[in-house]
Amino acid sequence: MSYRIETTCVQGGYTPGNGEPRQVPIIQSTTFKYATSEDMGKLFDLEASGYFYTRLQNPTNDTVAKKICELEGGSAAMLTSSGQAANFYAVFNIANCGDHVVASSAIYGGTYNLFAVTMKKMGIEFTFVSPDCSEEELNAAFRENTKAVFGETIANPALTVLDIEKFAKAAHEHGVPLIIDNTFPTPVNCRPIEWGADIVTHSTTKYMDGHGAGVGGCIVDSGKFDWRKYADKYPGLCTPDDSYHGVTYVERFGLEGAFITKATAQLMRDLGSIQAPQNAFLLNLGLESLHVRMKRHCENGQAVAEFLNNHEKIAYVNYCGLEGDKYHDLAVKYLPNGSCGVVSFGVKGGRKAAETFMKHMKLGAIETHVADARTCCLHPASATHRQMSDEELEACGVYPDLVRYSCGLENAQDLIDDIAQALEYV
Ligand SMILES: *Cc1c(COP(=O)(O)O)cnc(C)c1O
Repeated sequence: MSYRIETTCVQGGYTPGNGEPRQVPIIQSTTFKYATSEDMGKLFDLEASGYFYTRLQNPTNDTVAKKICELEGGSAAMLTSSGQAANFYAVFNIANCGDHVVASSAIYGGTYNLFAVTMKKMGIEFTFVSPDCSEEELNAAFRENTKAVFGETIANPALTVLDIEKFAKAAHEHGVPLIIDNTFPTPVNCRPIEWGADIVTHSTTKYMDGHGAGVGGCIVDSGKFDWRKYADKYPGLCTPDDSYHGVTYVERFGLEGAFITKATAQLMRDLGSIQAPQNAFLLNLGLESLHVRMKRHCENGQAVAEFLNNHEKIAYVNYCGLEGDKYHDLAVKYLPNGSCGVVSFGVKGGRKAAETFMKHMKLGAIETHVADARTCCLHPASATHRQMSDEELEACGVYPDLVRYSCGLENAQDLIDDIAQALEYV
């Protein structure tokens, strides 16, 4: 039986049997014991499923991944140590040296660096396109060796809303999957797979954990992309893996399991970005209230955005819940129940005015963090995005005067009063 999203947040992934713990057990063990070498050998050959070493898989992590998989409507999922690891694995699982990826230019700064600097050094080229590009511009970005398309449902910190169907259509016409980072809306507010995305990633560090307790990530596969149809392009999934005794992932694990099994068997084995089981437990506590919290984050976001929108010292407000927002129509389509609690805005007077405003905030703490129970804010141009030139900043929608304000779960009027007093100094 499948339940509604709220029920899955609370009960998904784990159904204890008679006399078993009500709460997800933390399996704090690096290793798992077997009676014979043959038993263990079968696990190493991927002939039997089971646990042998937590660097590859751990039961606590798998239970929590299963809940997120159910929330996103996927076929398989895995936790990673961070959102960065999730995005790296999701792309690197299908793109190698000599390959190419099309990505939206409006993405998280850390992801931009990962793609444009680190993965470029590994020989993978990225073409960045505006999330607002026309279908023609988008199609023109593809090459013979393109292996994936990447975007964020709601970009951090630009708050652009991606037209997921437009990107999915272009990806599929070119025979490649669409990978969507769904960190900001969470599956409570948007399920990209329902709009054509093939793989969904998360920084669970944000709303899913929601309490600033643990860094983590997750990859969910829809199981819908037919790798076999493009076998020449995806030899890693469609031809034998010599490092696993010749297993061919799509044959042994089907379209539902091939992507996640390969990412676990090869990337986790070799790179080891596993999430600590203790952190997976904390993540699950966050997931249990995700649907309740998201609603409140969105209510606070809307109230703060409306206040700022009418304030004389504010140059502009980005919040897709505002009727005049550039992305309001896309939000009505993709985010009918709300977007997220993050609002960004420009303080009149530019970089200097933004810095003054930041200095006088009392409730809103200056943190690189976002999407937390406690309100936090950031001036990206002097923090997360300080490596980027003004041109690069503008290309990804982060202007020098922009403040990113992440509404927590406090009383909305208290947040507004705090903003109002800080703006008096500007
Ligand atoms: C924070 C963030 C990441 C990176 O996640 P970490 O857990 O910090 O590694 C990736 N994508 C988005 C949209 C984010 O907000």
